[in-house]
Amino acid sequence: MINRDRIVQTFLELVAIDSPSGEEDAIAAELERRFRDLGLEVAQDAAGNVLGRRDGEGEPVLLSAHMDTVEPGRGIKPTWDGPDIIRSDGTTILGADNKAGCAVILEVIQSAIEDGATTRPIEVAISRGEEVGLVGAANMDYSRVAAKVAIVIDSGGPPSSIQGQAPYHYTYDIEVHGRAAHAGLEPEKGVPAISIASEIVLGLPQGRFDSETTGNVGKIQGGLVRNAVPDHTVIQGEMRSMVEEKVETLVSKTKRHIEGVQEKHPAARIDARFHTAYPGYTLTPDDPAVKLLFPVLEELGFTPNPHPVGGGTDGNVFRGHGIASVVIGRGGYNQHTKDEYLVIPEMLECARVVEGCVRRIP
Ligand SMILES: [Zn+2]
Repeated sequence: MINRDRIVQTFLELVAIDSPSGEEDAIAAELERRFRDLGLEVAQDAAGNVLGRRDGEGEPVLLSAHMDTVEPGRGIKPTWDGPDIIRSDGTTILGADNKAGCAVILEVIQSAIEDGATTRPIEVAISRGEEVGLVGAANMDYSRVAAKVAIVIDSGGPPSSIQGQAPYHYTYDIEVHGRAAHAGLEPEKGVPAISIASEIVLGLPQGRFDSETTGNVGKIQGGLVRNAVPDHTVIQGEMRSMVEEKVETLVSKTKRHIEGVQEKHPAARIDARFHTAYPGYTLTPDDPAVKLLFPVLEELGFTPNPHPVGGGTDGNVFRGHGIASVVIGRGGYNQHTKDEYLVIPEMLECARVVEGCVRRIP
């Protein structure tokens, strides 16, 4: 049975280990040790993600969370606010995003062992670098994941709070190569990369286009000194949409605009690279993850509440690898702020829901 004291204890112990993105070695080693103690076959992949497996019956299910946290996330001092809420002391985040997700997975396995319950084969993937662009999930060793369905425990709110729609996300890097020259002596010999880049920037998608489509120029870098025509400028930005065609239309418009600027400035060289950061998705009733999760939620008395989110999670990346994923709430609020807090009864509900999923054997 899901044990409140034990899961809270686990959560507090995990929070005591600092793990800002990029500094996950200590928490990874601790999680690896804990899963091994629970009898899982476990190891880190080349990207440092903790991947584990436990035998069971039927189709395997992947349980996933991330181990890194945002800043300020060092020396976290969890503080009780009444019997059911844990907060940070106000100087850091709490790290329920996503130590609560890790604690849920550990508790679900511990509870299965304790009850001698039959479960599906449980695969575990605890990723690194989720908060800095889903880096761990992007570089995960998927040859070690057999599951075709995943529960990603990484949303705010109660477990009925489900990410029902997530955007397609494209990023781009545009490099303008000009030619340097002395700004006072012979400026006409130069090809000014910054001003050409500024022509590009003005035509890049920025802001909100409709309720489900956005664009942003996030970074521009160029030039070396005041008195030289700049020979190099880099522009970085992104586009997102819930609808794949819409983001693809933006990408082709952007490419045409860049070609136009290139034609105007034949002496410059413009290199534009576009990347699909991750695919989006919209949950449908026949989705394998929905078919697994929704009946369990309903059995436990919850009404599934799928809602769109503007950002990606590891679930987007997993879907790109053919793993039907659903992202559920684990009781956290005000994520990525110093006001972050965890509602313990909701973390317990999340654990019961995940337990229901792994014990439902098709
Ligand atoms: Zn998270």
